[in-house]
Amino acid sequence: MSFQNPVFIPGPTNMPEAIRKACDMPTIDHRSPLFGQILHPARAGVQEILKSDSAEIFIFPSTGTGGWETAITNTLSAGDTVLAARNGMFSHRWIDMCQRHELDVQIVDAPWGHGLPADRYTEILADDKEHKIKVVLATHNETATGVKSDIAAVRKALDDAGHPALLFVDGVSSIGSMDFRFDEWGVDIAVTGSQKGFMLPAGLAILGFSQKALDANKTAGLPRTFFDIADMTKGYAANAYPYTPAVGLMNGLLLATETLLKEGLDNVFARHTRIASGVRAAVNAWGLELCAATPDVYSDTVSAIKTPDGFNATDIVTHAAEKYGVAFGVGLGEVAGKVFRIGHLGSMTDVMALSGIATAEMCMVDLGLDIQLGSGVAAAQEVYRSTTGVALKDAA
Ligand SMILES: *Cc1c(COP(=O)(O)O)cnc(C)c1O
Repeated sequence: MSFQNPVFIPGPTNMPEAIRKACDMPTIDHRSPLFGQILHPARAGVQEILKSDSAEIFIFPSTGTGGWETAITNTLSAGDTVLAARNGMFSHRWIDMCQRHELDVQIVDAPWGHGLPADRYTEILADDKEHKIKVVLATHNETATGVKSDIAAVRKALDDAGHPALLFVDGVSSIGSMDFRFDEWGVDIAVTGSQKGFMLPAGLAILGFSQKALDANKTAGLPRTFFDIADMTKGYAANAYPYTPAVGLMNGLLLATETLLKEGLDNVFARHTRIASGVRAAVNAWGLELCAATPDVYSDTVSAIKTPDGFNATDIVTHAAEKYGVAFGVGLGEVAGKVFRIGHLGSMTDVMALSGIATAEMCMVDLGLDIQLGSGVAAAQEVYRSTTGVALKDAA
């Protein structure tokens, strides 16, 4: 008997059986046309999921964090100025990485629970007449707070100021689950990883580069070896890597892109919105609030739920793991102990979400919070009953 329950952490996410099996394959020569038959279609699938016709796709044996490092080291030189908003743990960490690489980061602090302040970007970019700012960083979905930001508004801030800075977007917890428009938003680098929307184990950093970002690579002075995209480009031309690729994960990625595209991106996004709506209805029924301040920033991949003052939200996560064998996410950084997180991205159905909501309820009641058992489940059931569910015949 296996006691495996679905996980409700915002990555790594649950793996569909077929995708998990696709990672388990016999050894092949990773410098051969056979590997090319995995590499190139996987890259094409990622490009389509980014909604781009021309982005150059790079896949490193790494994680999202390595994707951040790939982005900055391939395009910037020490002392370059970067503009970044900090509204949660992940935007904070990317800023920290930039500083460790001796970049000069102009930080705009926004309250945790709010989106990145595009209006402040507009002012700062308009004031930067000498165009000292080389790159603008934007975290599309702050996984720590369950907050999505408006990337089109960041592009507009750049365009309104007539500013040539590159736009780098962290889409680690949005790409493949929430609408992402590389070409339309004029994104120069998009960063993601394998273990969130792509429903794979951790182990791949996945990036899209625009032509402008590729051009910046020619003059970028920051040291890089493992993450050098010029070496990688040479490798790809020969169906290979500059080193040994994670072939099984790449095979899984190929199937993951096919699976998402077969479901249809609009259907994937609608499914995430529906499931998230049910979770939000449950939170409301519990009389609790999201960390996300306003509906326009609600994330469809993760909900960070505030617990009453004086209560340690992390106890819910510990209790769920110990008593029910279910994983929720803890609060990070500034909101540690104040929120717990329900991840609802990737391989997730209405029914799975209901089990997570039911478990969260049991934990909160066990721990003495004034919650009515079944209240959140009932609220989510109404959402799921009244919206079109998974087309099971297509999901087979
Ligand atoms: C998970 C995550 C990361 C970090 O990715 P790793 O794969 O853990 O290195 C970065 N940014 C966001 C928004 C994330 O959700």
